[in-house]
Amino acid sequence: MWMAMKAKLSLANLPTRIQHLSRWSAECGKNIYVKRDDQTGSEWSGNKIRKLEFAVAEAVAQGCNLLITCGGIQSNHCRATVSVATYLGMRSAVLLRISEQPPLDGNYFLDRLMGADVRFCTRDEYRDHRAEIMQEMADGYAAQGFKPYIIPEGASFGVGTLGYYFAMKEIVAQEREMGITFDTVVVATGSGGTLAGLQLSNLLNGYGKRVIGVCVCDDAAYFQEIAARISRDALPYLVALGELSQDRADRFAASLKPTDFELFEEYVGIGYALSRPEELEHIHRMAKLEATVFDPVYTGKATYGMVNELRPGGRLRSSENILFIHTGGLYGLFPVSRSFQL
Ligand SMILES: *Cc1c(COP(=O)(O)O)cnc(C)c1O
Repeated sequence: MWMAMKAKLSLANLPTRIQHLSRWSAECGKNIYVKRDDQTGSEWSGNKIRKLEFAVAEAVAQGCNLLITCGGIQSNHCRATVSVATYLGMRSAVLLRISEQPPLDGNYFLDRLMGADVRFCTRDEYRDHRAEIMQEMADGYAAQGFKPYIIPEGASFGVGTLGYYFAMKEIVAQEREMGITFDTVVVATGSGGTLAGLQLSNLLNGYGKRVIGVCVCDDAAYFQEIAARISRDALPYLVALGELSQDRADRFAASLKPTDFELFEEYVGIGYALSRPEELEHIHRMAKLEATVFDPVYTGKATYGMVNELRPGGRLRSSENILFIHTGGLYGLFPVSRSFQL
């Protein structure tokens, strides 16, 4: 049984700071703040460590000694998982989606540097069979005497979602300290767990904020389904932690709808991890303007979308105090440095 006592490992640098971006704010006539979840650490920097603090605590509580997960070749989540496993003296194995032998760069380089076992698969295998392949890997390790724990893509599952449920509480505590209220919280969405945790907390605790995920792949309807499902899966854990009663959890689960999650789906561009020149120009412009470096796969696309939606007629026009969660991804910028016009 899952024990509340060992619910969370303490690994990330928390709370992450919130910065006001004064020049971007002046440009659009709003108050734009950035929560620096890209600074949760170095090897495990980014948003995934908040989810892994809970997921890996469960793995440890179950006596597991090997973490298996999956992602794209430049997956920040895989790199964070590998670093946590290695730090805790566990072994790690990652299933990476790639069609040809990848250059040893960025996150993939760090996976290898920190000692991960790496298995490759094609796009089609990944899309249709990643759960089976990871199970097959787990069975192989179990036959060698390991006790594996499988973390699904992005650690976007019930227990992982707790990381952003509590991040939202952290934000509200910081609001009180700073004497400000964020009416809108924006985050990039790639597997749905970050958005799910933030909005679950927002709804359950009655914070009344508008929480928006900007899709970097797939579409809004897809992530609405996922976010509703993993939010429901998080409820038993929240009950065990004393965050809400079983009765309230049951009523909440029955009333939760996919449309409780708001997403912008217009900024995927030419596809996951593929960049258009205007997106790279935007990253360059923000880097020069604010010394805040966004990544090409997630935060660059999400903030490109924000700039557009902050214009007259845009869907963020009614927002005044906007908090963007910088979820990390810097290592994924280096492999595309040659695509920039500097
Ligand atoms: C994984 C990731 C996201 C998206 O978070 P999800 O919970 O997967 O939707 C955003 N930004 C960065 C840098 C990421 O690595």
